[in-house]
Amino acid sequence: MLYFDNSATTKVLKEVLDEMLPYFSIIYGNPEAKFYSQAIDAKDAVELSRKRVSTLLRCMNNEIIFNSGATEGNNTVLKCVAEDFQNESEIITTKIEHSSILEVCKYLEKKGNKLEYLTVDNHGKINVEELDGKINENTKLVSIAWVNSEIGTIQDIEKISKICKDKKVLLHIDATQAVGKIKIDLSKNKGISFLTFSAHKIGGPKGVGVLFKRNEVKLQPLIHGGEQEYGLRGGTVNVPGIVGCGKACELIYKNFETYNNQIKKNSNLIKSLLIKKFGNQIVINNDFIDVIPSIINVRFIGINNVVLLHAISPYAAASTGSACSNTKPSYVLKEIGLNDKEISESIRLSIGYDDITNEVNSLFQEDGLL
Ligand code: PMP
Repeated sequence: MLYFDNSATTKVLKEVLDEMLPYFSIIYGNPEAKFYSQAIDAKDAVELSRKRVSTLLRCMNNEIIFNSGATEGNNTVLKCVAEDFQNESEIITTKIEHSSILEVCKYLEKKGNKLEYLTVDNHGKINVEELDGKINENTKLVSIAWVNSEIGTIQDIEKISKICKDKKVLLHIDATQAVGKIKIDLSKNKGISFLTFSAHKIGGPKGVGVLFKRNEVKLQPLIHGGEQEYGLRGGTVNVPGIVGCGKACELIYKNFETYNNQIKKNSNLIKSLLIKKFGNQIVINNDFIDVIPSIINVRFIGINNVVLLHAISPYAAASTGSACSNTKPSYVLKEIGLNDKEISESIRLSIGYDDITNEVNSLFQEDGLL
């Protein structure tokens, strides 16, 4: 079966799994225990992972905080910044953020914060001048995803970062769909105060993620407890998970071009075969310039997406959109101008690093398929 749901999650890469395995039942010490080699070795492994992540993001080692994933990272940044300003802050975000941002925003609105939601154009891009104009003396935080999870649109983070730096406003970037697809350089984009992502979207394990927090910026922990992770995230750290996260980041750092060339090749092949086989029975919803090639959002005219996904499930795995809010019609597609019928006919194919040329070719040769 062909797996076209890499934006939902990826398989753990073999190199990643191999490196994680000893930390389950051989080097299983608690890294904070300090006094014996098992603990020291576990601590060394966590610190090596921190180094690997900071190398990928081009930041300082001590700006990397390991946690359970992007949802936790997003909650931490939004809730803790809001709390720092007694829940009287103004926060700017967009209408097409992931639910782990939008649901927190709704919660923060109830707590008294003022939320501003930027609209996007029909390619999913925010208007940077509109953002600039909306920032005022009460604005404390801007939160924007680098890449949208349903349509793959890339925001102009360099410009956004510059605006936030000039206006001295904290900027959080949800980079969950950007890591591995876009070269991230936090030494250049100094306006980025926080950045979050999950390891399982990049060939690492589930349940582990990263919160980047620039050293000059203060933040309270969301999860209070022990002194782990610079006192910013209590709880015994997930050593095998962190090792896997670090390894996945190292592999991306070393193989960035190879991985992305393969994604592009896979994506071009799938798009050309879709167009060849279905012609004007399909519409590529995200045929934009500023888009990552791993996400193809495609509409099969007249075919319900849920029916289609069930029908193709023995051969191909895909989704209607974000796995975290898949019971409702896509608000992202709505924001870029699709109507309810068009949304109900759209699916997301998200493509990984493996060479799937042969499998894709034979899938499209099957008669009556799709
Ligand atoms: N942000 C974005 C843009 C995402 O795509 C996702 C995962 N779908 C998340 C946050 C949440 O990630 P996780 O479920 O790993 O916490």
